Amino acid sequence: MSLLTVGSVAFDAIETPFGKTDKIIGGAGTYIALASSFFKKNQNIVSVVGDDFPQEMLDLLSERGVDLTGLQIKQGEKTFFWSGKYHNDMNTRDTLITELNVLENFDPIIPADYQGAEFLMLGNLSPQVQRSVIERLTERPKLIAMDTMNFWMDIALDELKKTMGLIDLLIINDEEARQLSGESSLVKASKVIRAMGPKYLIIKKGEHGALLFHGEKIFFAPALPLEEVFDPTGAGDTFAGGFMGYLASTGDISFENMKRAIIAGSALASFCVEKFGTQKLVEITQDNLDARIQEFVSLSNYDMTYQVN
Ligand code: AMP
Repeated sequence: MSLLTVGSVAFDAIETPFGKTDKIIGGAGTYIALASSFFKKNQNIVSVVGDDFPQEMLDLLSERGVDLTGLQIKQGEKTFFWSGKYHNDMNTRDTLITELNVLENFDPIIPADYQGAEFLMLGNLSPQVQRSVIERLTERPKLIAMDTMNFWMDIALDELKKTMGLIDLLIINDEEARQLSGESSLVKASKVIRAMGPKYLIIKKGEHGALLFHGEKIFFAPALPLEEVFDPTGAGDTFAGGFMGYLASTGDISFENMKRAIIAGSALASFCVEKFGTQKLVEITQDNLDARIQEFVSLSNYDMTYQVN
């Protein structure tokens, strides 16, 4: 089943308590595509870079089955640049620099061959751009998933709500869920947010795992307890990419299959944080991923019987 991702392809500079990088490859679209490529061997991306973006990274994406027809390369312009610094807890970060560059006037043009996509993953971009993608698709995908961030809640809440009315699944973190709903209980927040449109909601809780809500059903998946978290950048996008790649490879959007997709996304995200940027995602093999998925299965799998005397 075809998968279309729309998201930033970027340069990042990251500072954590463990070290600092110069400009490295980043971007929500990059993480999503790399992660989903572990499950989906051909997929499409709509994005934009400047002529300063390295050809080697584009080649690597192509080798992983990502079609780049929809990736616009703007001659004489610069790629989106984001820089962030993590606090000692590694859960919170400050954005130091956002240079929109080519993203400022990004017009997400959908190549004709991309029409008919069954799975659409809208990475974190302005809600107007995300909505224009949905409106430009001639057939509604089987599942439209979307990420967003507190920045858009602060400056474009009405636009965000309009876009949320058109999607099936929203993937956000706990802090964003609380801001968007005005509720501190995540169960209450999930009801408020789903009333805005998406029938499905995933709330990511960083090192405390992720929750999936649909109707009256709730599923919880833990995060793998890791000795060292080196750089959390892109973990959320990697999670979303693994989740959507798994769903698109199976074609099954039942709640039961979404549980498996959450484990797939969580396993990939657990690799992502082990090195700076996309480095670890590029290094690992399918065998590494299979082994880690098994670790997740045994992490919370148990037999329980008891007697009442
Ligand atoms: P995450 O850590 O999952 O929130 O994602 C971090 C990635 O999002 C980085 O690689 C950035 O390049 C990208 N990013 C940060 N801010 C924006 C933005 N305003 N629009 C699009 N992408 C962004």
